[in-house]
Parts: sequence; C-alpha cells; structure tokens
Amino acid sequence: MMSAENRRVALVTGGSRGIGRSVVTRLAADGYDVAFCYQSNREAADQVVKEAGAAGAAVLAQQVDVSSQAEVQAFVRATEKELGPVHAVVSSAGIVRDNPLIMLTEDAWQDVLRVNLDGTYNVCRAAVFAMMKRRAGTLVTLSSVAGVHGNATQTNYSASKAGIIGFSKALAKEVGPRGIRVNSVAPGFIDTDMTSQLSEDVGARMADRIPLGRFGRPEEVADTVSFLVSDRASYITGQVFGVDGGLVL
Ligand code: NAD
Repeated sequence: MMSAENRRVALVTGGSRGIGRSVVTRLAADGYDVAFCYQSNREAADQVVKEAGAAGAAVLAQQVDVSSQAEVQAFVRATEKELGPVHAVVSSAGIVRDNPLIMLTEDAWQDVLRVNLDGTYNVCRAAVFAMMKRRAGTLVTLSSVAGVHGNATQTNYSASKAGIIGFSKALAKEVGPRGIRVNSVAPGFIDTDMTSQLSEDVGARMADRIPLGRFGRPEEVADTVSFLVSDRASYITGQVFGVDGGLVL
C-alpha cells in the first residue's frame, strides 16, 4: 500500500468493463491514482470512477479510441497533467471479430489489428519516453492464449495477440537498461462480455478442456497485473504469464 505522498499513477486502456475494469479497481485499492479510457459506454465508465474513487484514488476517465495515435497521446498528456507522471501502463483494450479465414472481411482483419496491436503500440509509444527519462516505470500488455497457440476462427485476433507478445519482448530488451519492465499477461477463457458471446454449449465444452474446470474471473487476471506492476516483480521482465486455469500446458 502506498502512502498519500508517494501515490503512483497507473494508466489503463479499456477500463470500463471486464478485465480492464478489474485492473482499475484493483490498482486503486493498491494505492494508485488511475486514469483509464473506454470506447463508448459513459455510464459504465462513471460506475468504475465511483468504485475506484471509493478506494481513495484520484481517477480520470476519458473516451478514447486506442487505434488513434493522436487520441492516445492526448489521453497520456491529460493524465500526466491531472494526475502526475505515469508509473504503470496496462494495455487492456481489445476486440474480437471471429470468422474462419475464408469468410473474414477486410474490415474484421483491419479492425482487430488496429485496436489490439496498434492500440498497444500507441499507448506504449506515448508513455514510454517519459518513463525512460525518469528511469522508472512498467508496462503490462494483455495478450491471450490465442497469441501463444492460435485459435481456429481467430486468425486476426491470434495474429494481433502474437504481435503483442513480440512487441512486449522487444520493448523489454530495449528499455530494460533504463530500469523499465515490460510483461504480458495471456488470459485463457475469462468470464467477461468478450466471452459471453459463446453459446452455453460451447462454453461448457471449453470449460471441460480447462484443467481447473472453469472460466477465470477478471479479478484473477487483475491480481497478476497488480503483482507485475508492483515492486514485488522488480526482477521480472519480458515474460508472458498465462492466467488460463492450465488451458495451455
Ligand atoms: P471486454 O470486451 O469485456 O472489454 C474491452 C474493453 O476495451 C472495454 O472497456 C472497451 O470499452 C475497450 N475498448 C474496445 N475497443 C476500444 C477502442 N477502440 N478504444 C478504446 N477502448 C476500447 O474485454 P475483456 O474480456 O475484458 O478483455 C480485455 C483484454 O484481455 C483484451 O485485450 C482481450 O483481448 C484480452 N483477453 C480476454 C480474454 C477473455 O476471455 N475475456 C482472454 C484472453 C485475452
């Protein structure tokens, strides 16, 4: 827990729901002031602001399209101005547009790459230089088991998530000498709006393939992120952490 004078600032993309939302509230409880962005649902974002604020955090929420470098840069600048230097970045905003490759539209390919991969690049690019100057900071990207092993009907999503893993490892090597750590969390099936599109039947079959026998909870991913951005993880960088109930073994 941080004292009021040495509160750190975390910036989270996709914080209005699911994993990102759990990360925002968890980091607020850990003692961070938190800025987060979301795509469209203002009401959901307001709810998160309330929840994180109740934990004593200063909170900034902005509607930002992470695929726009200009919007992300403005969001990072606003965070620095209102909350202070950004110590931790968590890139969680992501989308799926599933289809077998032969039916995948050009838009479905481009949208997923732009939001997931370009979005991750945009936020890390906008935040890392200030971290390098301060020789302090840490970044966590959200990849997926799909980026490690591939999922049928998810060529676009798997490519974006594999790209995020390569990006995170390369950046870890680049900025490690400046004392900045970069890690990626690769969730399996987590109970969020993203997986609620699965039919009950498919969901049950998926759960059967998971050694722990169930989907994960967003808070279980947030716990890992909380550890990775903390000083307890001070000698960990360039790693990909599966939070998947043993799905990928
Ligand atoms: P979700 O759909 O519940 O939430 C996604 C969040 O991203 C929302 O806050 C939304 O507003 C935001 N977002 C989407 N597009 C955006 C854009 N263009 N600009 C700004 N914000 C945008 O998703 P989730 O299940 O919480 O997933 C979070 C991350 O974890 C994603 O990167 C996802 O790929 C990854 N992941 C999820 C699972 C899972 O099972 N849920 C598994 C593996 C990886």
